[in-house]
Amino acid sequence: MSVFVFGPVPSRRLGRSLGIDPVPLKTCNWNCVYCQLGRSVPVTNERKDYWPPGQIVAEVRRVLQTRSEREIDWVTFLASGEPTLHASLGRMIRDVKAITQIPVAVITNGALLYRPDVQEDLMAADAVLPSLDAGTAALYRAINRPHPECTFDRLVNGLLEFRRAYQGKMWVEVMVVKGLNDTEEALRDLAGLFHKLQPDQVHLTTPVRPPAEPWVEPPDEQGMQRARSFLREWVQPEGPGAGIVKLSGIESLPDALVAVVSRHPMTEAELLRLLPDRSREEVHRALSQLLESGRLQVVERYGQQFWASGRSRYG
Ligand code: SF4
Repeated sequence: MSVFVFGPVPSRRLGRSLGIDPVPLKTCNWNCVYCQLGRSVPVTNERKDYWPPGQIVAEVRRVLQTRSEREIDWVTFLASGEPTLHASLGRMIRDVKAITQIPVAVITNGALLYRPDVQEDLMAADAVLPSLDAGTAALYRAINRPHPECTFDRLVNGLLEFRRAYQGKMWVEVMVVKGLNDTEEALRDLAGLFHKLQPDQVHLTTPVRPPAEPWVEPPDEQGMQRARSFLREWVQPEGPGAGIVKLSGIESLPDALVAVVSRHPMTEAELLRLLPDRSREEVHRALSQLLESGRLQVVERYGQQFWASGRSRYG
């Protein structure tokens, strides 16, 4: 059973992405109001080897041996927390690049880019995808609720410094949240920062999976239009995505369900599409048992029921 590696899963930005998750669930220095994995309790900024790096890379090697390289577009470090909190991230990126030709990406909140050791680690990746949701310190604190050491000045200076030195692609993600960063004022501030940063691309996303806080809503169409218009220099038109990637070669259905929804809460209908070889009854039965044992929970948002890890904490 894979502990650290999952997928490949479809990603709008990265196509078919084989995920590597190097830190335990919700080990994060931010506590975003929109986090689909629930609240960060506690918020931590401790950088250390949460799991042995050799064990993680050995699992990547094992999984890649069972897959054709043509099935995977990117190998992606993306945690069910913040991957740069793993102290051996740089070593792991270099080790993975030594065993495959597939490009390596890191999805990060970028909060630790103020640290030279983190900048050095990320230099080895082919693409870095940081988040930037706010153009002012006040809005940053309201949306991302960072650890006290992760100040807005550090975030911005870290991004700018890294951008100047980094040779790979920088694709920034903006999560647009209704009433927070979809206003003219907020978007003008954000555009001001992007003028300095000049990322290769900006991707706009909206909270469509269960947010940590129940009051978080996606923007309405005017809010999205405003965001596209203010950030038009960098925003990419939506690609076709990777379509549906099916989970295959599963040894244990319950373990596979827990592994998927712990990183990406999903509705039962979405899970069924991921698992075309399994019957509706079989999946439903496994979900019910996982709910009963506490390994999974159901979170209701936007009139839908999402399956999520039983260890996640939602408001
Ligand atoms: S969305 Fe990402 S950065 Fe924000 S709290 Fe969740 S894991 Fe951390």
